[in-house]
Amino acid sequence: MRIDVVSIFPDYLAPLELSLIGKARQDGLLELNVHDLRDFTTDRHRTVDDTPYGGGAGMVMKPEPWAQALAAVAADRPAEAAKPVLIVPSPAGERFTQATAHELAEEDRLVFACGRYEGIDERVMEWAAGHFTVRPVSLGDYVLNGGEVAVLAMVEAIGRLLPGVVGNPESLVEESHSDGLLEYPVYTKPSNWREREVPAVLLSGNHGNIAQWRRHEQYRRTAERRPDLLAEFDAGRLPRADRTAF
Ligand code: SAM
Repeated sequence: MRIDVVSIFPDYLAPLELSLIGKARQDGLLELNVHDLRDFTTDRHRTVDDTPYGGGAGMVMKPEPWAQALAAVAADRPAEAAKPVLIVPSPAGERFTQATAHELAEEDRLVFACGRYEGIDERVMEWAAGHFTVRPVSLGDYVLNGGEVAVLAMVEAIGRLLPGVVGNPESLVEESHSDGLLEYPVYTKPSNWREREVPAVLLSGNHGNIAQWRRHEQYRRTAERRPDLLAEFDAGRLPRADRTAF
């Protein structure tokens, strides 16, 4: 997969050189390029924002630097390649979920446009639809200062789903949100720590009982912390052996 990120703060994306995503880049599993939006301005002050039409607080990102930057990124692909997906982080976008991460992990090319101030002039998204599949995406129902933090989270969530990025792909299967429930609690050695015992079933060696206990815990925890998820949970989609836990 190739990812391009356009931002006025390219240094904000430096953490993507670290850990599993950094290693995936080194191993050639993921190509990631960060572009400075100001490189696509033409004035002496490298201006990227202006006052909003209609008045009001804050500034709006000017359309032309965005069009220049996105056109350059879009042009950098083979003629026969499909349109890349342009993800525009925005609190007014569709919610980013594990399902979105899986969907986007199937793409060959993703481009992220990091807004700042009050956001990007709306006409950029209309224009960009000619070159990209445009998806405004929200990290959650709160407002950040810019799209960069959202991009860090999304690239990590998508990148870890790419083949070869996470050493043991089994660990992706049992995680929170992989089957609609939260993950069960996990423990490591010692079995007694500050007078707290690890649940006995986990020491029993009985894999059937352990799987059953984990399923119960997933359900209990989801009901307690995220009852909204239970409303959409369909136990019928689980493997037959797992359904007996409910
Ligand atoms: N005025 C915008 C609104 O109310 O929808 C918020 C602008 S916000 C201060 C600046 C930028 O931060 C946005 O353009 C977007 O790129 C990013 N951003 C803020 N909150 C976000 C969220 N929940 N998810 C994704 N991106 C977000």
